[in-house]
Amino acid sequence: MHTQVGIIGAGPAGLLLGHLLHLKGIDSVILERRNHEYVIDRVRAGVLEQFTVDLMTQTGVEARLHREGMRHDSLYLSFAGRRHHVPLAELTGGKAIYVYGQNEVVKDLMDARIATGRPLHYEVQNVSVHNIDSSKPAIHYEADGKQEELKCDFIAGCDGFHGICRPALGDAVTFYDKIYPFGWLGILAEAAPSSEALVYTYHERGFALFSMRSPRITRLYFQVPPDEDIDKWPDDAIWDEMLKRLSTQDGWKPNVGRILNKNVTAMRSFVTEPMRAGRLYLAGDSAHIVPPTGAKGLNLAASDVLHLARAIASFYGTGKTDLLDQYSDTALQRVWKTQRFSWWMTQTLHRFPDENPFDYKRQLADLDYITGSRAALTSLAENYVGLPLDVSF
Ligand SMILES: Cc1cc2nc3c(=O)[nH]c(=O)nc-3n(C[C@H](O)[C@H](O)[C@H](O)COP(=O)(O)OP(=O)(O)OC[C@H]3O[C@@H](n4cnc5c(N)ncnc54)[C@H](O)[C@@H]3O)c2cc1C
Repeated sequence: MHTQVGIIGAGPAGLLLGHLLHLKGIDSVILERRNHEYVIDRVRAGVLEQFTVDLMTQTGVEARLHREGMRHDSLYLSFAGRRHHVPLAELTGGKAIYVYGQNEVVKDLMDARIATGRPLHYEVQNVSVHNIDSSKPAIHYEADGKQEELKCDFIAGCDGFHGICRPALGDAVTFYDKIYPFGWLGILAEAAPSSEALVYTYHERGFALFSMRSPRITRLYFQVPPDEDIDKWPDDAIWDEMLKRLSTQDGWKPNVGRILNKNVTAMRSFVTEPMRAGRLYLAGDSAHIVPPTGAKGLNLAASDVLHLARAIASFYGTGKTDLLDQYSDTALQRVWKTQRFSWWMTQTLHRFPDENPFDYKRQLADLDYITGSRAALTSLAENYVGLPLDVSF
């Protein structure tokens, strides 16, 4: 078997890359280790930057997003018992964020893929990459008990943080890593959102975030130790803690409802440099992860994929490799700026185990400064809605 681009992983990065390549008439085969339902059901990202929405719109996979997604022109920063309005759209010339679950993005991209008739294989096993330094790299895998070989012009490693592609880059790469001394306990609850905007809360008991997925479902998080056992948290105790951290002096609090899903996620910042070796190119979480505070992971996967698809299309259109050679440097410019912002949001809003009362007061002063300064709020807003990126393709 041969294809132009072998894509490993059918998360947002792999599916979006297949979609963009299809629009340029470029063949790809997408290989995914899990089954179709598992990939859709994973509860993960829920906030899309303006750039991601523009890219989906520009490439024709936006119909349901514009129908069902919730545009947010603002958010709240909450501390010392008070919510402070951050008018994102007003501060950024009309840009916004959109609440639309990663599950929905993945469903839309799967439907687009199926409509093209191009291959998308689920439940493949023992995937490995070979000859990445040659002009004909190959992917080996098992499907339905049979060993297969897929020869490619290029391999795209879109297989997430625990995939096989990053380790296959060899020794010529450097990893930059930061592990945070906390994680997030997250719940999905059957409760109508009680605020029209997200509420990021800095509380003496630790960070908490009020968010939503739809007009009937809220998505809430609070900071816990990184190795917290979810079984230590019965539903009543979770609501008790949520209400303590999120409730504000004006009487606002989240609505309480049946908990549909709960888990603990550890937090980490991680970057691979360069994001390629030979003809193996990484995109999305396989190359980098950010702590979820800035709501950037899925959006960063989309910007990598746009750069990679442009570079591959340029190669097939002109025979030139310049954009492919620059891919890693180009993608990393946004990756590092996004890492900086995600780290900044994380350290501004969380309590650290080694901090003292001075640190707590300083952090409150920091938030007081940010919410009182149009310059500081503008910086926050332009990063939160996503730094500008041309989506023409
Ligand atoms: C709790 C949580 C909340 C988050 N919130 C946000 C948010 O609000 N906003 C945001 O932008 N981001 C958020 N993120 C991050 C976001 O979910 C990820 O950045 C995003 O999923 C990255 O997409 P990806 O396609 O690169 O990787 P993934 O979604 O991890 O997809 C990789 C795919 O590759 C497959 N795979 C792995 N190994 C193999 C193999 N060997 N062979 C074949 N297939 C393989 C996997 O099964 C998976 O389907 C959040 C993440 C978590 C965990």
